[in-house]
Amino acid sequence: DNHASESHTDVLIIGAGPSGLMAAYWMSRCGVRARIIDKKPTKVFTGQADGLRVRTLEIFDSIGFQHRVQHEGHVTVEANFWVPGPDGNLIRQGPFCSSKVNESPFHNTLLNQGRIEQFILDSIKEHSGLKVERGIIAESFDYDENLKDDPDAYPITVKLRTLSDEEIKSPSVSGGGSPQAVQSGFDRSNLVSDDWEDLVQKSRSHQTKTEIIKAKYLIGCDGAHSWTRKQVDIPMVGSSTDHIWGVIDIIPISNFPDIRRLGTVTNAAGMILIIPRERQLVRLYVPVQVVDKATNGDARFDRSSITPEMIKERVQAILKPYTFDYKICDWWTAYQIGQRIAPTFAKDDRVFLAGDAVHTHSPKVGLGMNMSMQDGFNIGWKVALVATGVANPAILSTYNAERHHLAEMLLDFDRHWSGVFTENKPPEGGLGKTESMMKIVELFEDFADGLKAFYGASPLVCKLDNEQGLIPGHHLVPGERFPPVKLRKQADGNTQWTTRILESDGRFRLVILAGNVCDATQKQRIETLSHFLAGQLGENASPLSRYTVLPGRSGRPIDVVTIHSAPWKETEFFDFPEILRDFDDTMGWGYGKIWCDDACIWDRDCDGKGYERWGVDRMRGVMLIVRPDQYIGWVGELEDTDGMTRYLDGALIKAVPGK
Ligand code: FAD
Repeated sequence: DNHASESHTDVLIIGAGPSGLMAAYWMSRCGVRARIIDKKPTKVFTGQADGLRVRTLEIFDSIGFQHRVQHEGHVTVEANFWVPGPDGNLIRQGPFCSSKVNESPFHNTLLNQGRIEQFILDSIKEHSGLKVERGIIAESFDYDENLKDDPDAYPITVKLRTLSDEEIKSPSVSGGGSPQAVQSGFDRSNLVSDDWEDLVQKSRSHQTKTEIIKAKYLIGCDGAHSWTRKQVDIPMVGSSTDHIWGVIDIIPISNFPDIRRLGTVTNAAGMILIIPRERQLVRLYVPVQVVDKATNGDARFDRSSITPEMIKERVQAILKPYTFDYKICDWWTAYQIGQRIAPTFAKDDRVFLAGDAVHTHSPKVGLGMNMSMQDGFNIGWKVALVATGVANPAILSTYNAERHHLAEMLLDFDRHWSGVFTENKPPEGGLGKTESMMKIVELFEDFADGLKAFYGASPLVCKLDNEQGLIPGHHLVPGERFPPVKLRKQADGNTQWTTRILESDGRFRLVILAGNVCDATQKQRIETLSHFLAGQLGENASPLSRYTVLPGRSGRPIDVVTIHSAPWKETEFFDFPEILRDFDDTMGWGYGKIWCDDACIWDRDCDGKGYERWGVDRMRGVMLIVRPDQYIGWVGELEDTDGMTRYLDGALIKAVPGK
């Protein structure tokens, strides 16, 4: 096309599924010049993924929409496994519950992917004018390696094309690769009102046009058949077999007692996974077939023999003697997927790949959307801060280091589960099956729920070489999330979880666990630290004025939060040094900057045991740098301002004096 226009952007995101939207959130929040495109004309409305794990919900809280998920979703904490008993009839084993249920304020919740996409889109809209450009496909790619070390250069060139209406209607665009999914169509009665608005107010321009876009960074979030991954010649490696699952979202009519409880049913007729959902829906997964790609080639014909009727008959056979039927089917598909992973998630720290684009696995561990969103969340803030000149480009290599390792664990987890699901052991093996499932759950639950991230040492994670101020067995581990605790706000006594206090606004946080500030010695330590922060111990020494500022309202890239352990009634907001109270010309005093770990009479979650949970001495305290994604970057004594500065100097770019 000779008439292709040319434009520049700092960050281009290809794909607006869960991973792409999460990355886009950071662009919007940090004021980055960015574009996000998707070939589909609309977001997802029904079907696809639906499971939300604990850590994902904590992330949502830090963004600000966790309450919407809580309001609409269905919480599942306990699981039941039904197996044939000694007389061959189905018996319930359970309920089984994770021993870690109290390690987060949130519990695993089920809600359709379309709602999650809507919530992220709303957050993006709240912070910027960034819009998903839909009905646009990325078609050609060029990368100039010679420019890779120049942070101001645009080494990436991508040609975008607006799709015609005919192309949009083709199954490969609208059905996400599943022709069956298209047939279910959009039924207004199944949609929530703001979804419906999005559907009728498609922003797509119907003119077919081409655009050449030059970008500094590219994030490929374009799903399991990733176009971006192919452009940078990164293969997918792994299993040569695919599993085909029949999936239906229905309103069941059944007398099976656990039809609204999470669990599995196994007998000689097969296995089903039952997932209770919002709006009376229940999702059923039925493993249907294993396809050996080596002998069958790419033959996907198997899938077309799968119909909702066939899935229903299988469920009926497995649930016998209980009855099963339905009248309403919200969505169904034959989902074909294999266990595969890309050997690397990045090229030259200029092109990044996230989500299904770099790891695929069966849907039964309920992690596809979670892992994908957490990939996008991980790369998003790093690229955003580098693109705005706030962070050191060296931090970008931590994306692959942190997320690739986790994707390998994901595949390992999936392989363990697969055995349980696909081998149909004879009925007498039923009890053994429950045991092996429980073992797998125990082995992987920290990983699966995101309670542990296993991020290794890097410019963003300074592993501890001494543990002063921390009690043996403490939970303040660099490379892990800041363990959530509910606290009281010193100024007004309101309570808040740290997941919300440590807001995802693009800033690093200096978290001062100030200890017992009613003690004279401890108070002196806090005052000395405050002198340093206020810049009274040397020009440009304070981390609050040392680094380049973020564009827009956020300002300096470090926020300070103080959490003390003295009784709430025995100290006052104004007892704290002024620099910690953070006065703002328009917002007044930073009442939300000083918190107290004390029990609250009207809120049982706020029990005053935070320091114990963190493993910190209640008298002496400790301080930490928490990354913009709430993972701990650095921990040190209140006097270790050198250690803190070393960490921040590695991550952030110093401000040019006089600017
Ligand atoms: P995706 O959600 O796949 O998003 C990728 C986006 O990129 C798409 O919107 C696509 O249109 C766009 N795109 C692709 N190529 C281009 C291009 N060249 N130019 C522009 N845009 C492009 N998970 C489960 O846990 N359970 C399920 O039952 C389940 N069923 C699924 C059924 C289907 C039909 C599909 C497609 C997925 C299903 N998933 C399921 C997987 C789950 O949806 C994904 O794990 C999750 O969406 C991954 O998010 P992502 O953002 O990485 O990729």
